[in-house]
Amino acid sequence: MRITIPCPDVQSYEENPKSFLPPKATCVNDPSHRTQWHASWSRGLCWDHVHVRTLFIFNAYCVDCRETISYWPEFVLPYPREPLETYEEVLVEHLNGASLRESSAKIAYDPRTVSRWIHLALSQALVLVGRVIPCILRLLSETILPLSASSDWEAAQLLMAWLRALAQGTDFPRFDRLMGLCNLHSEGAWDLWGGPLGNAKSRVKETSPPG
Ligand SMILES: [Zn+2]
Repeated sequence: MRITIPCPDVQSYEENPKSFLPPKATCVNDPSHRTQWHASWSRGLCWDHVHVRTLFIFNAYCVDCRETISYWPEFVLPYPREPLETYEEVLVEHLNGASLRESSAKIAYDPRTVSRWIHLALSQALVLVGRVIPCILRLLSETILPLSASSDWEAAQLLMAWLRALAQGTDFPRFDRLMGLCNLHSEGAWDLWGGPLGNAKSRVKETSPPG
């Protein structure tokens, strides 16, 4: 299971990632389950679209579920090397009518790569919309019926609009990380938006567990 942790700035996480972890790992299936911290592993993050920096991701283990619990800072998705803001930016530009060529030129990527990112985010929006919007309505104590989406494009638009309303309603200040806000509320119940569904590949490099 993956748990997203709030993390306003990347540099603070790089300097002291353990300070963003809870004192004790909690199993999302049942908080009374026994957990223990495990090794961390490192992954690259291509912050400026060119240079790769190393980030540590921390794992815990639920003894009762026999399952790994990984703690992900909100700005990073399971497999892609770019920070979440980059994926969100190209998705929002696409929804606002920007061409793939424009979006990819800005970050010096191949338009085919950017097209893959957008396609992935749109297809996941269609899967997530039915689960995420009812959750947002609950969090905002709204009783209106959510609109249904008839296409992946509409699903992504609805999700982004409702996530923006949630950010405003809860004083979440990072409007370029609405996908991260979405993941923060998932409590491990859905896969992280914007990353490929399935297994995130780790490059295991052990450091001492926190504490
Ligand atoms: Zn458990």
